[in-house]
Amino acid sequence: MFYVTLGTGVGGGYVLEGRIQPFGDLGEAEIGHIVVDEHGPECCCGNKGCVEAHCSGPGLAKLAAALARSSYGSWKSSALFSDNGPTGLSSVQVIEAWEGGDDFAAEVMRVSANRLARALGATINLLVPERVVIGGGLGTATPRLLELIRDQTHGYVVPYFRDSYQILPSRLRESVVTQGAAILARQTVE
Ligand SMILES: [Zn+2]
Repeated sequence: MFYVTLGTGVGGGYVLEGRIQPFGDLGEAEIGHIVVDEHGPECCCGNKGCVEAHCSGPGLAKLAAALARSSYGSWKSSALFSDNGPTGLSSVQVIEAWEGGDDFAAEVMRVSANRLARALGATINLLVPERVVIGGGLGTATPRLLELIRDQTHGYVVPYFRDSYQILPSRLRESVVTQGAAILARQTVE
């Protein structure tokens, strides 16, 4: 199983044969810092276009601002923009507008899900997990996001692996962090 959290940042965890795989003392599976679009927004790690810069809460807001700047003319009628043009948008505003049928918000969400899908496709091709679980405040904000991620990821997975995995929502929601930490600690003691 490969776990991805979409929240303040984007992080990953890999479970093999029932055990969380500790990759080392420096950190875990850093799917958030795979570069998926070299022309994308700047990331806090110093690179440009990481998954985290498109798919975390702050990343989604940055992506919305970048898309608004580059193609504002096409989206003038979006409810997200005041008469003065694009203003600072939050990820919550973008998702609410998407749920309300806003076309600009739909484009932001499509691009965001697509950038995550590029990294998920590579992860599935590399590790062949049976399940990819999506969690975090943003990742579980709406079932529509999961649908979008599923649709976008499909094309990035090699055809013979496409029926081998499921993309599912995290059932533990926010408590996945403390549960995972406790399991890691127990594994270490054992
Ligand atoms: Zn990064």
